[in-house]
Amino acid sequence: MAQVLPPLLDYEQSYPCPVCRQGQLDRLILMDAFSCNVCHHIFSVNLSQQSICLADRTPALGWRWARQRWRPLHHPDIDFPLGIWILCGGLTVLPPTILWVMHYIFPPLPDSSANSFPLLWIGVVGITHSLIALWILAEFYQLPLYLSWKFRLQS
Ligand SMILES: [Zn+2]
Repeated sequence: MAQVLPPLLDYEQSYPCPVCRQGQLDRLILMDAFSCNVCHHIFSVNLSQQSICLADRTPALGWRWARQRWRPLHHPDIDFPLGIWILCGGLTVLPPTILWVMHYIFPPLPDSSANSFPLLWIGVVGITHSLIALWILAEFYQLPLYLSWKFRLQS
């Protein structure tokens, strides 16, 4: 059953937690803040900007209520930021390509015992740089699964 979410942020309603995605945000009594009933994070509320901000973590992360879901505050309104994708694509492709070109220009000696090591190393470099690029994308987009995993590790 789908939950009906309020269109505007106010203190009288409950909202899904943007950090753990499992809990509910409810107002703390006599405070201008919300608290999650699962991860117990406290969020300061700015009703005029329809936003909340993590009050118990630094750097403070913020989200804007977009009628049915939270949008990260630092996230630009464009859905496809070209710079971050070019950075991650270059980070993934460039280092293994440079290694492969070096391997092509300077191949190992034919009777060398470590003939397959350069190819193995190119694979390791490609995988590690791909993981770094995925980490950058997860940080940029504040992916819910990544955030949940990150905050569980920190607590
Ligand atoms: Zn939570």
